Amino acid sequence: MSTTHPLIYDNHGRPIQYLRLAVTDRCNLRCFYCMPEEGIPYLPKKQLLSYEEMLRISTVLAGLGVRKVRITGGEPFVRHDLTKFLYQLSDIEGIEEIAITTNGVLTQKYIPDLKKIGVKTINLSLDSLDRQRFYDITRRDEFTKVEACLYELLEAGFEVKVNAVVMEGRNIEDLIPLAQLTEKYPVSVRFIEEMPFNGEGSHYPILHWTYRRILDHLKTEFPDIQKQIDPLNSTAYHYQIPGFEGNIGIIAAFSRTFCGTCNRIRMTAQGTLKTCLYDDGVMDVRDLLRKDISDEELTLKFIQAFRNRPKDGYEAEQLRSTSVHESMTTIGG
Ligand code: SAM
Repeated sequence: MSTTHPLIYDNHGRPIQYLRLAVTDRCNLRCFYCMPEEGIPYLPKKQLLSYEEMLRISTVLAGLGVRKVRITGGEPFVRHDLTKFLYQLSDIEGIEEIAITTNGVLTQKYIPDLKKIGVKTINLSLDSLDRQRFYDITRRDEFTKVEACLYELLEAGFEVKVNAVVMEGRNIEDLIPLAQLTEKYPVSVRFIEEMPFNGEGSHYPILHWTYRRILDHLKTEFPDIQKQIDPLNSTAYHYQIPGFEGNIGIIAAFSRTFCGTCNRIRMTAQGTLKTCLYDDGVMDVRDLLRKDISDEELTLKFIQAFRNRPKDGYEAEQLRSTSVHESMTTIGG
C-alpha cells in the first residue's frame, strides 16, 4: 500500500489504512455459523447507510489515510445498484484499492463491471466443494452457481481468495480437496477458525479446529507444505505446497494472533464504526451524518476513535457491554 499520503496511527502505533464497509445486512444464504435458520430481523432500509452516506464516510476516511476499501455485508450483491456505487467509490481520491467479499451466488453477471471498476481481488466464501455439504451448511442449494462463479473469476484474471470456515463435523472432508485447488489454479485458499458471531448468542462455539490443528491436518496429505513470508498486515499465515500454482492461508480469527499489526476498521450497514471486529461498536456515524456534522468535525471524531483502539480482540471483547452474540452479517465479516 502506498505510503506517499499522510497516514493516521492509532494509540498502539498501527496505521489505519483499510476500511471494511458492509453495504447491507441482508444475505441470500443462511450459513448456520453466521445466522439462525429463519435469518435475523433485517433493518428497515432507512436505518441502513445510503450510498451517498457511504461515499461521504469513505471520502473523509480517505483524507485520513485509508487506502483500501473492502465491500462486504450481508451479501453485497443483494443491494440494488451496487456496481453504480462502486464506480463512484473508485473515483474518490486516495482510494487505491477496492476489494469485495461475496458468497458468489449473484456475482457472475457483474464480472465485466468489476473489471472495469478496477477491482482486482475477490474473496469468495466457499466452505465445501460438495453440493450436499454446501447445502447443509448454507441451507440453500446454490453450490453450482458459486462453483461456476469461482472458475469464471479465475478465468477473468481476478486475484481470488477462497475463504472456508473450518467446522467440526461439517466440512473437514473438504480441507484437502480445497487445498488441492491450489495445484492448478493461482488461487489462495484460506482456512478460517470459526468465530462466535452466529447471531444466536446461545452457543459460543468450542474451537475444535485451531490454526495449528488445521495445519497439522494439511500436513497429513502434504507433508512438504512450506511456510511463506506473510505480507505486512496480513491476518493469514501463508503456506505453499511445492510445485502448486496457488497458496494456502490459515486465519486464526478466534485465537486472534494478528492484532499487533491490524490496520483495519469496520463500518456496519447501519453506520456503526468498529475499530475491532470484537468490539460492540464505538461510534454511531449514521447519527452524526444525519445531524449534519461537518466533514471537519467528523474527521476529528474519527481521529478520537482511532486514538482509543483496544490493543487486541481480547481487550475489545472485555470492554463490550454485552457478550458476543451478533451475526456476522450485521457486522460485515
Ligand atoms: N456474504 C459475503 C460472503 O459470504 O462472503 C460477505 C459477508 S460474510 C459475513 C463474510 C465472511 O464471514 C464469510 O467468509 C463467512 O464465512 C465469514 N463468517 C461469518 N460468520 C462467521 C463465523 N461465525 N466464524 C467465522 N467466519 C464467519
